[in-house]
Amino acid sequence: MYINGEFIESQTKEWIELRNPATQEIVSRVPQSTPEELKEASRVAQDAFKTWKKTSLLSRQRKLLDLQLAIRENMDRIATSIVTEQGKTFKDAQGDVLRGLQVVEHACGITDYMKGELLNVSKDMDTYTIKEPLGVTAGIAPFNFPAMIPLWMFPLSIACGNTCIIKPSERDPGAMMILAELAEQVGIPKGVLNVVHGSVDTVNFLCDDPNIKAISFVGSDHAGKYIYNRGSANGKRVQANLGAKNHGVIMPDADKNHVLNQLTGAAFGAAGQRCMALSTAIFVGKSKEWLPELVERAQKLKVTGGFEPDADLGPLITVQAKERVESLIQSGVDEGANLVLDGRGIRVPKYENGNFVGPTILSDVKTNMRCYKEEIFGPVLVCLNVDTTEEAIDIINKNPYGNGTAIFTRSGSVARLFQEEIDVGQVGINVPIPVPLPMFSFTGSRGSIIGDLNFYGKSGLQFYTSIKTVTSLWRSEDAEAGLSSVNMPTMN
Ligand code: NAD
Repeated sequence: MYINGEFIESQTKEWIELRNPATQEIVSRVPQSTPEELKEASRVAQDAFKTWKKTSLLSRQRKLLDLQLAIRENMDRIATSIVTEQGKTFKDAQGDVLRGLQVVEHACGITDYMKGELLNVSKDMDTYTIKEPLGVTAGIAPFNFPAMIPLWMFPLSIACGNTCIIKPSERDPGAMMILAELAEQVGIPKGVLNVVHGSVDTVNFLCDDPNIKAISFVGSDHAGKYIYNRGSANGKRVQANLGAKNHGVIMPDADKNHVLNQLTGAAFGAAGQRCMALSTAIFVGKSKEWLPELVERAQKLKVTGGFEPDADLGPLITVQAKERVESLIQSGVDEGANLVLDGRGIRVPKYENGNFVGPTILSDVKTNMRCYKEEIFGPVLVCLNVDTTEEAIDIINKNPYGNGTAIFTRSGSVARLFQEEIDVGQVGINVPIPVPLPMFSFTGSRGSIIGDLNFYGKSGLQFYTSIKTVTSLWRSEDAEAGLSSVNMPTMN
């Protein structure tokens, strides 16, 4: 753990084995932090808050500038940890770090974002706003982006003057431990950033501990709803990004080559373990004739260990995840879909024990099938056919999730109609994975988020601060004798 600026061995007796998903070799053992250790992390974070909130904005900005440089210089080291623990390809792991780094770079602009508003509301009377940090904040992260998602959380939180406790995923906490080491190297003061480990017991502590004022969560629906309910019942602010089912609509007038390349990358990249993976294709009209070529391109992807230079996709995170994905593929077959590409049973030379599933495509899928209704989180593309854009929009709007969607077309009018009618928070037009850069926010909607405030961007900043308004009156006449009023001030 990283508590109060020190790397500490847990005294726990409960350890979680962490295996390399490409080989099953044990990489490390992750402690279930003990109640005493968790209390200590909270105590030091609360203590550090007293001084950190008073640190000047410029010195907080300086620490973030130094941190972004340190992350850039250590990008490959962090990526190596990600490939070893999580399994994605090395290039994709560098992307994981880079997308998180962009949030740190953005957080360096904190001197601008903390500005308030001032209005002269009446004669001699001003109302102005002050953005204040909340106190101790907590972050609970998923396994699929071990660097990016913790970096959505703690840099902005501490830039605002909060202190932070991060619980990385127990399945791949290595990247967060390197980030803590870098935070220590650049002189982020003791107690400002802390890292604890474990699973449900640690989560329960973070939801219940009175020092913690806000929780940022990213992960599955089940855990997110639980954390939202438990955290908010304890009076905490909670932002929770949940699961997804993202649809790509392929219009017959689209650029075929662009569609096939983008769809292949977005459906199968990271072995489909991205919340913004384009996991569902809706072919409109004649575009369904491109399916055989899509199958050909998907077949060409190289499935192997993430460190192999030609790897396109690596293994799934655990044996259980592989079994679940395979059973969802089978459910599609059993319910009448056509398995036009089957990635089950793939043999990967040098990595015979890895949790691999190759690119898989199910066509003629219907919306009542399990493979359509559930988030698969594997390299599986489910394909539906419709005749009109309206039907495609209707299917997407009826799906409970609203993380991302994309339309591929050459028609500006169709794109415009889609943008207006679609009830999904992040829309791509000829862009398969429309994750906004941090000058915007991550705006998944409906079933993909609980809580009102999004991650990063202006919304993220709002999440990590509260606004105080001050109304002040300095009346020059009061320097002389005046009459006091007993009426409700109307400020007229
Ligand atoms: P997960 O919910 O299993 O784990 C996330 C965190 O919650 C972990 O730190 C874990 O320890 C904790 N947790 C797990 N089960 C819990 C429980 N029963 N009670 C309390 N805490 C619990 O999620 P995951 O498998 O690590 O990540 C994959 C999921 O995350 C997918 O559903 C994916 O769509 C989602 N995700 C969403 C976004 C987004 O921005 N919408 C981004 C990335 C991942």
